[in-house]
Amino acid sequence: MYALKDAYLIREKTCARVYEMYIDMRCFGEGYEEFYKRLSEEGIHFIRGKVARITDQALSEEEKGKLVVICEDTLLGNMLRVPVDMVILCIAIEPRSNAEQVARLFNISHRPDGFFQERHLKLDPVATPTGGVFVVGCCEGPKDITDTVAQALAGAAEALSLISKGRVTLEAAIATVNTALCLGCGRCKEVCEFHALEIVEDETRMPLCQVNEVLCQGCGTCAVACPTGAMSIRHFTEGQILSMVNALVEHR
Ligand code: SF4
Ligand code: SF4
Repeated sequence: MYALKDAYLIREKTCARVYEMYIDMRCFGEGYEEFYKRLSEEGIHFIRGKVARITDQALSEEEKGKLVVICEDTLLGNMLRVPVDMVILCIAIEPRSNAEQVARLFNISHRPDGFFQERHLKLDPVATPTGGVFVVGCCEGPKDITDTVAQALAGAAEALSLISKGRVTLEAAIATVNTALCLGCGRCKEVCEFHALEIVEDETRMPLCQVNEVLCQGCGTCAVACPTGAMSIRHFTEGQILSMVNALVEHR
């Protein structure tokens, strides 16, 4: 879409003849397909095909002193040589190279492609598993200016609503470790998507799991993963849950 916008602006400001080589055209937003059609009708030359080479070796008078873009028009099925004054490469958006480091610093998740992950695509699109940390704009995935501004406003509103309250209420039902049973194996830490667990050493230098009570959301995943039963959720211990089940069964 930004290549289409550039094509439009270049043509409008300079009256230049613009060629746009593309492999796949995806106009994903409202009115974008119409914009593409309009540009086609207004004389932007869209050529479906991958550029094979750019050369300054002229084969004709017309090509002298120009850059020549050589590509195959896959719709017409023939090779083209397009002499131009300037070539603009429209590169893909990539996540920042140290995204992994930033994610670790703020205790947030990222996808395999390196972009940061929101808490829930539809229900909580700018929040992250770490309370008070929000992701907006292209750090979360490629997006245009309109979507970036909308997300930025949402992120700012979420942050303001937290600040205006003046205090943060933490979850009461959070993970707790029975240190007598904990082996420090780290399985609970592996499954905690809120990065609320750390493996530390106790006074005898034995590894032991420690819960960060601010980060813990009480989801209970760690309690399920713990092989020794050392991990449980406050107010939802195994004994309490079994008692509730028993009471239910008795009632029936
Ligand atoms: S999974 Fe259980 S035993 Fe292993 S570190 Fe966590 S709490 Fe300790
Ligand atoms: S209850 Fe959920 S958030 Fe809390 S430590 Fe366990 S897995 Fe992490």
